[in-house]
Amino acid sequence: MINFEQLKEIILKNNSFLLTTHVNPDPDAIGSEIGLYFILKKLGKQVYIINYSETPYNLTFLDSDKVIQKFDEQLHKKLFDEADVLVALDFNRPDRIIKMQPFFEQSKKYKICIDHHLEPGNFVDALFAGDEYAATGHILFKFIETTNIVQLDHNIAVPLYAAIMADTGSFKYDRTTPDVHLIAAKLLEQGVRPNDIANKLFDESKFSKIKLLGKTLSTVSLYGKDEKIAYMVITQEILTETGALENDTDGFVNMCMSIENVVIGILFLELSDGFKASFRSKGVVDINKLAAEFGGGGHRNASGLRLKDKKMTDFIPLILKSAEKYL
Ligand code: 5GP
Ligand code: MN
Repeated sequence: MINFEQLKEIILKNNSFLLTTHVNPDPDAIGSEIGLYFILKKLGKQVYIINYSETPYNLTFLDSDKVIQKFDEQLHKKLFDEADVLVALDFNRPDRIIKMQPFFEQSKKYKICIDHHLEPGNFVDALFAGDEYAATGHILFKFIETTNIVQLDHNIAVPLYAAIMADTGSFKYDRTTPDVHLIAAKLLEQGVRPNDIANKLFDESKFSKIKLLGKTLSTVSLYGKDEKIAYMVITQEILTETGALENDTDGFVNMCMSIENVVIGILFLELSDGFKASFRSKGVVDINKLAAEFGGGGHRNASGLRLKDKKMTDFIPLILKSAEKYL
């Protein structure tokens, strides 16, 4: 059980906060940052949001105050030693913030993590986490509800709704409990329009993304015993050809899971300095373990890894072979 009263105390007794989230942020990452930003602003706090990655274009609507800054070492490294509290949102291992990691780790300021991934690392002073929560935005909602630290309003409700909607796969994954629906109802009572949010998150893709999806789908292959593994491969060449960005690949791996009999889906994505793999699984297949074997992590049915300076083509056969163990 998360100690929400402790979190409330930390917030009330400090003045400035630096919020950050993981590389290639998703709606839960940005949504929980903006949700917490509005909570803190309501309390008169000073808030900075510094992210390693630029905010994806389909999520900029959440940052209505345009407060999120992309990390620039010269501009921002001092902030890690100036803000009273550093807040890690929606990630639980320091390597998830890439070049910001040393500044976060070396800072002597108080550090907290609010997150819902499995197996948190030991990198903060206080951890407010639980993998039973559907989203980091879900934790923030419970925080407000439990402590009444501020009154819920439209500004806070919009990002939290986006966070929960995305991390539950639009209210269809296992952690879509009755409580999650009750929370959604309370957010709608604040004037959130679900159709508007869904449109922004899922239905305003750039043409380059759709071209990339087409090319990616043509790489789908089946693998393993009874062909229960489906995988797709995106090379740097395909990315350049279509003009799409890493973040445009979000959700692509789910296409693997829509193939009958497939229980493991993998997307391999070549980066300019290594590669990343996204894993999805169905039911009891624990794909977090596969990611962990190669230094990644995540959740039981959705995990990932990112290997710097490694060749994707060397790892594809190794990862596929390992994946068979989890069938
Ligand atoms: P996605 O495949 O959508 O990028 O990520 C799926 C899940 O895996 C997310 O919950 C994310 O936090 C986790 N994940 C993705 N990449 C990494 C990684 O490099 N390291 C760790 N520890 N988790 C990751
Ligand atoms: Mn999340």
